[in-house]
Amino acid sequence: MSTVVATHSAASQSKAKYSFNKLQKRLRRNVGKAIDQFAMIEDGDRVMVCLSGGKDSYTLLDILLYMQRIAPIKFSIVAVNLDQKQPGFPEHVLPDYLASLGVEYKIVEEDTYSIVKEKIPEGKTTCSLCSRLRRGILYRTATELGATKIALGHHRDDMLETLFLNMFHGGKLKAMPPKLVTDDGKHIVIRPLALCSEKDIERYARAAEFPIIPCNLCGSQDNLQRQNIKQMLQDWDRRFPGRIESMFRAMQNVTPSHLVDGTLYDFKGITTSEGPVADGDIGFDTPKLPAMDVPDEDSIVQIVNLTE
Ligand code: SF4
Repeated sequence: MSTVVATHSAASQSKAKYSFNKLQKRLRRNVGKAIDQFAMIEDGDRVMVCLSGGKDSYTLLDILLYMQRIAPIKFSIVAVNLDQKQPGFPEHVLPDYLASLGVEYKIVEEDTYSIVKEKIPEGKTTCSLCSRLRRGILYRTATELGATKIALGHHRDDMLETLFLNMFHGGKLKAMPPKLVTDDGKHIVIRPLALCSEKDIERYARAAEFPIIPCNLCGSQDNLQRQNIKQMLQDWDRRFPGRIESMFRAMQNVTPSHLVDGTLYDFKGITTSEGPVADGDIGFDTPKLPAMDVPDEDSIVQIVNLTE
């Protein structure tokens, strides 16, 4: 009996290890792809990895340290945490973890919590001032540390949420860039998790047992509009598997001639002598799914779902 139990537990352990390895490989591959596709890290870079203590930034640091070991180029990493003096912030957790990794790190202590509490009336959302203050401090720290790149832990789902936030509330088709120059023009911000899904990151962080620090210490509610969008996307993901992936592919596959922004595409300059544009006029066509020229009944149901 005990031999059967032991065999069963060994089998489930090896299954868990196999699926963890697969997950780890997928995350590493996606980070490698993003770094390559957007030329995020170059030889000689000093990458400042911003670590909040949440699942995303732990995963980011973990994978970048791996990349550093195997990359054909040389770059250095310095982890930075901003201790914003929120009540109950466990000060020892990150230094202990970072020391155990042997990575260079800096903890910056700035009481932005009190500033935000003082400036923002009770009941109002504090996140926008808090993030602005945090951004300024992190840029300054990057200068002090001589960092050439600032790596943030935003992932694919953050980018999609931002796209919908901007569409629903800002009237803009705009998401979150994988790479950009900071407002002060001195640094380049990179988001190496841009191609990674939040689900994968969540599972990875749990399996790797990162010492997560809760993100509600400041007592602020998560931005309600972002929460609503998150729920909408999660609901779509449950009801229409593949939709999130398709939408994210769409963000990497834009056709300006088929949008309505005259600054991106010279509609005024269109003449017949230039011939038809790429992708042509599909206004009268039935939307096509890949490899599906003549839709059957099932496909039409899918098309309706995809286009509703
Ligand atoms: S949740 Fe709290 S710590 Fe995070 S940005 Fe908002 S106010 Fe700042």
